[in-house]
Amino acid sequence: MKDPAALRVLHENRYHITPHIYVAPGRVNLIGEHTDYAEGFVMPAAIDFATLAAVSPRGDGQVVIYAENFGEERAYPANALPTKASGEWSDYPLGVLATLAGEGYTIPAMSLSLWGDVPLGSGLSSSAAVEVATATAVTGLMGLTIPGPKLARLCQRAENEFVGANCGIMDQFISANGAEDHALLLDCRDLSYRLAPIPADMALVIANTMVKHSVAGSGYTTRRAQAEEACAILATHRPEIRFLRDATVADLEAWGHEIPPNSLKRARHIITENVRTVAASEALLANDMPTVGRLMHEAHVSYSKDFEASCEEADTMVDLAQDLPGLIGARLTGGGFGGCTINVVQKEHAVEFAAALKERYQKATGITPEIHICHASAGAHSVS
Ligand code: ADP
Ligand code: MG
Repeated sequence: MKDPAALRVLHENRYHITPHIYVAPGRVNLIGEHTDYAEGFVMPAAIDFATLAAVSPRGDGQVVIYAENFGEERAYPANALPTKASGEWSDYPLGVLATLAGEGYTIPAMSLSLWGDVPLGSGLSSSAAVEVATATAVTGLMGLTIPGPKLARLCQRAENEFVGANCGIMDQFISANGAEDHALLLDCRDLSYRLAPIPADMALVIANTMVKHSVAGSGYTTRRAQAEEACAILATHRPEIRFLRDATVADLEAWGHEIPPNSLKRARHIITENVRTVAASEALLANDMPTVGRLMHEAHVSYSKDFEASCEEADTMVDLAQDLPGLIGARLTGGGFGGCTINVVQKEHAVEFAAALKERYQKATGITPEIHICHASAGAHSVS
């Protein structure tokens, strides 16, 4: 995480006032991919990469937003904020303000400085970190206390309706509600959740393939549409199937022949992934790490072969990890088509694991990966 004291100085130099500072983490999903919009289960953890937001009031009626990562500032009248996306970084904080305004809140004049170290567009959800950091800071300035689950929904709506990215609830939810040293099993149907401790001798090794993914891209949208098509066909037989969360492998065996082949594969991934995700959280609660590892591996194969949302580099990164010392389980994490793999690794082996994986991947692909040894962190909070 960036140093909050450095952001404080930066904000004071620009706006000549001491800000309040808030932090919201990025996340890594241990298991449960593309299940969130099917009202299924996901099990992410917040990580130590995060976005910081510094906020202070202004007397001139302006909302001024500065992004240190881009070295850019934007200013708007607080009573006439943009209502449409511009395709820039500012869409994310502005989307949060627009969503709050849509809820009936009056957005006060403010200076907001953002600074993060979540790698952008790498599947670790820098976008949710920016949204949740903004929402936490702005509601803090307004003196509002919005419960974490509700804050997460607001931020998801900002990304869906303002930014225009069709993401599920997972990223914003874990950024708002994560807990130190825990993974969080989230039921995306009713947003109930359960924490499962990550054993103290385990490290989360995140390996960036350096292949850029984009949730706004066509791959994500097509997969989602195919899953919805399969769901609609199953629902003609069992109307209680509203989302793939409600469907079972037996349903696919009975009516799969009516579903176009690609949509059938997407549905099979989502249906089996829901089962694996709940099982993985139970294994984690029982400190049964071999089972966690096996489920992660099965999840990767399903994501790659049935959902076809992996890529050559990510498959290579997962393959190369298999016989390295300390590996519990490895899989591609995030929206797919590139981004990072998550490797649960015995802590005592984590440093040599990371070094060996880097060397192997470099040799195999000619790409130098970024590999980070992380631990599960707390969700959004004030650091003032
Ligand atoms: P991901 O969430 O996987 O990192 P996205 O494409 O969903 O990738 O979101 C990345 C976008 O979020 C960036 O292009 C930028 O517009 C915005 N963003 C992320 N972090 C910051 C930041 N620290 N400051 C400003 N904007 C940010
Ligand atoms: Mg994102």
